[in-house]
Amino acid sequence: MTPAGEQLCYSDAYARSVGATVRHVEAGDATLVVLDRTVFYPGGGGQPSDRGLLLRTADGRTWTVRGAKKAGGEIVHELEPSDGDPPAVGDDLRVDLDWARRLALMRTHTALHALCGVVWRDYGALVTGGNMEPGSGRMDFEFETMSGDLVGAIEATVNDELAKSREVRVNVLPRDEAFAIPDLIRTKVNLLPPGIEEIRTIEIVGLDLQADGGTHVANTSEVGQIRVTGYESKGRINKRIRIELVDPVVET
Ligand SMILES: [Zn+2]
Repeated sequence: MTPAGEQLCYSDAYARSVGATVRHVEAGDATLVVLDRTVFYPGGGGQPSDRGLLLRTADGRTWTVRGAKKAGGEIVHELEPSDGDPPAVGDDLRVDLDWARRLALMRTHTALHALCGVVWRDYGALVTGGNMEPGSGRMDFEFETMSGDLVGAIEATVNDELAKSREVRVNVLPRDEAFAIPDLIRTKVNLLPPGIEEIRTIEIVGLDLQADGGTHVANTSEVGQIRVTGYESKGRINKRIRIELVDPVVET
């Protein structure tokens, strides 16, 4: 089996474009394309996959990438079916993200981690799940004492933390080392399969540390401010908080 193509999203979240060669093309409802390297995030951990464009160097022909996914260790690009004949194996391409969308997802994802960090630090509540779109997201907590009255205080505290310009670091640790860090795997259900030997972590320095595969901004100052847009009680214990970015679009 050939090794997987280079997956830049995990090491450099700010890489928005890269040159690549087509390694595999599979016809179907949507044509699937595997490259020797890519900047696309394949989705996961509540963060949707990227969208963007492939541009063939030889003739400038372009294809819209409507989404991506992980399959067999590779990041697979799904082409828009109406774009006609796919590129061929061996074609040289430029791979471009829809950067405005990705950056909004990075800011939203980091905002959600800041929310998790505050809720854990100040209330000891575990995260049970989450989801996001560019500019908005939700997190579910096991938070019995949570009430609508607390929401304003949580919003203010999260915004204070974001305004502290905290650095956001990506680390990859051996599994044993990662599991020895107290509170690292803070989701109620540990979804990491036993076969995984390295754990990628996202640290908002001084606030939050989680196992996470997503893309994040490098500093909380890039998030700006958030507002809490909803609070729902999903039962006695399970509570949901919805947030959005105050400025969903920033200059890039
Ligand atoms: Zn995350």
